[in-house]
Amino acid sequence: MIGQRNNVSGAHFAFTDRWGGVSAAPYEELNLGGAVGDDREAVLRNRELAAEALGLDPTQVVWMNQVHGPDVAVVDGPWATDTDLPCVDALVTARRGLALAVLTADCTPVLLADPVAEVVAAAHAGRPGMVAGVVPAAVEAMVKLGARPERIVARTGPAVCGRCYEVPADMRADVAAVEPAAYAETSWGTPAVDVTAGVQAQLERLGVRDRQQSPVCTLESHDHFSYRRERTTGRLASYVWLD
Ligand SMILES: [Zn+2]
Repeated sequence: MIGQRNNVSGAHFAFTDRWGGVSAAPYEELNLGGAVGDDREAVLRNRELAAEALGLDPTQVVWMNQVHGPDVAVVDGPWATDTDLPCVDALVTARRGLALAVLTADCTPVLLADPVAEVVAAAHAGRPGMVAGVVPAAVEAMVKLGARPERIVARTGPAVCGRCYEVPADMRADVAAVEPAAYAETSWGTPAVDVTAGVQAQLERLGVRDRQQSPVCTLESHDHFSYRRERTTGRLASYVWLD
């Protein structure tokens, strides 16, 4: 259920895998995405199960309506409704105990925390979001709340790797013109994009030093949802929060 988890000075980072939930095929088992065609009750039950495994109150987890853009919302509590969520790709909070969640199935989930300033952020960085700068925008919003880049701990989660994410040559050129570190080649020798490498390079330029990335490639791992492999599939969730 929880594929990877760690705690740095009271900041918690957790990434789910696809097992341990109640969704039926093709969303088996722990689909946490509410907009992929799965049964709504199953998704809500899965969110409860994941929260329970993390020691979180499921009502204190903030989700977003991700649209592959650069917009950030600063939040200090759960949304008033669990439908019709704001269209943003990053969330920032300075509220302890409030968990921020990002949904992915190949895109790169980015979790950030400054445990000293007590500010955390979660961002959804697919190729368009990485190019649009959603991660720098999240860092900027954190800094406005007192965070300092050199204190930020950054963890990127399971995502399609640069050796699997094949794109047309002109798309690779367009992405690399913005973020050269994302230039990649598939294991079979065709043009590719490495979104996580792009995110890591953006964070490094901003002065974020404590950076780690998940070794998991979602397309290669059958323990994870992959949109590129399965098309109709579930979503993994990544959570960040402060004690
Ligand atoms: Zn791969």
